[in-house]
Amino acid sequence: MNFRKALIALVLLSGVLAASTVQAAPGLEDKLNAQWQLYKKAQDMLLRQVQRTDIPELKDRAITRAEWEKALTLSGDLAFSPQDLADLKNSQALRIQKAKDQAKQNSVIDLDKMRSADKAAQFCEKVPKGGMLHIHSSGTMDRATAVSLLKELDPVLDMTAVFQDIRESSGNVTLYPEEEAWLRKLPASADFLSLSGPDQERFTSLLFLPPGKQPFPRFNGVFEFIDFAIYDNKKKVSHFPEVLMAFAKKAAAEGVSYVEFTDMATPRMLSRIAVLEEKTGLVIRLNNSFARSRDLAALQKDFEGFSAIPPSTYTVGIDFLDNEEKFPALEAGQLLYGEVLQGDISGKINLHRTMHAGEIGDVRNPRDAMIMGAERLGHGVNLAKDPVALEYAAKIHEPVEINLSSNLRLTDVASIPEHPFLNYLRLGLPVSLSTDDEGIFGIDIDHECEVAVEQSDITYAEFKQMAFNSISTSFASDPDKKALLAKLTGQFREFEKTSSY
Ligand SMILES: [Zn+2]
Repeated sequence: MNFRKALIALVLLSGVLAASTVQAAPGLEDKLNAQWQLYKKAQDMLLRQVQRTDIPELKDRAITRAEWEKALTLSGDLAFSPQDLADLKNSQALRIQKAKDQAKQNSVIDLDKMRSADKAAQFCEKVPKGGMLHIHSSGTMDRATAVSLLKELDPVLDMTAVFQDIRESSGNVTLYPEEEAWLRKLPASADFLSLSGPDQERFTSLLFLPPGKQPFPRFNGVFEFIDFAIYDNKKKVSHFPEVLMAFAKKAAAEGVSYVEFTDMATPRMLSRIAVLEEKTGLVIRLNNSFARSRDLAALQKDFEGFSAIPPSTYTVGIDFLDNEEKFPALEAGQLLYGEVLQGDISGKINLHRTMHAGEIGDVRNPRDAMIMGAERLGHGVNLAKDPVALEYAAKIHEPVEINLSSNLRLTDVASIPEHPFLNYLRLGLPVSLSTDDEGIFGIDIDHECEVAVEQSDITYAEFKQMAFNSISTSFASDPDKKALLAKLTGQFREFEKTSSY
């Protein structure tokens, strides 16, 4: 070997050596792990921020969207490429298919056969349901109860307050122009029974969601009318206990054993729950609702008011409601959820946390809710649009409260076959079925079971899993959960023994 050749060989060899010491480019797994670290860092940033009492103005203590996104974005060669995201989606699709095949094998009842024999209704009437984790007590009144209460109470239909509310809500509450025009034509302060039959019917229909897909502000409009049937404005008496009793009796009759309400934890509401439990045998718990339409200072006041209520075994957590499109999880909820998470970590606050996230609006809401410490997601439909956040949800087994009919009416889901709930379940998220505002939608849990069984390819093992998830991911105490799970196991044993499918 002459000198020249030796030099070339040396250069080549050093090149090989250098290449072998350079780290391989990060793969999808590395990038995902780096992303989870950023989620943790963002949560730490939130926890630091809620403790900054040196900043007097709450709004100045809030993390801005730009700061949040910067903290969550991977940079350089750790950033996700379009190919990474395609690979991630492929990997999820493969796992979904595998889980489905496995669930089919694990099913002692063949739902395919039942579907083709049109027997979903019989199945759903009998199958145990477990719990319902997403129930707004104010949305439980069914049509029969509303009709009979409106006739009994004959309320004065003074619309001034309704129109005032609609005006003040800056688009968060609406009626269609023709509905408003019709209401304005009614005599001022008319009694309900003084209206013609068709007008009585038209007024009654305002207590329910109009047919078809509806924008969220129109859904909010329904709540402007419900009180006319519930509150006797002549005798100053609330008929809410009867509305709740009708709901609870139906739920118990349909095989439900546990309900989590979202409502205000007022002493009056808690005493109503005690009566419902005693009369129906249901176990009922409550998550105190906070409205995301409130500004940060008002929300803080609401939280202080709620914290002043003596603790009750019925109150188990918090929930965050209303229009996600106008009031995203981060911007509206960070200080409330940050404070409750911080309190949970330090042992000062003993409250679970669920959040309406991924129903409508910013697709980042479910991700942000999880980072902000939400132990369950309400709806979570939009989680499917972010494969990285979905992967995180699968990794931490984030529970999702699914409300199929509600989602069909209010969210960006065109049909039940396109609803992501089964994909979530098959990826390992403990999802469960609930009814949201069953009175307003004219549904109940049997109906939701039928929708799931008839319009998706759910297997029996998966349906059963959802029923068990509805107890295991509830915010009930451990002894309550244990008793409820034992009861559910017995119910399924009996169901499977007597089932003819
Ligand atoms: Zn809801």
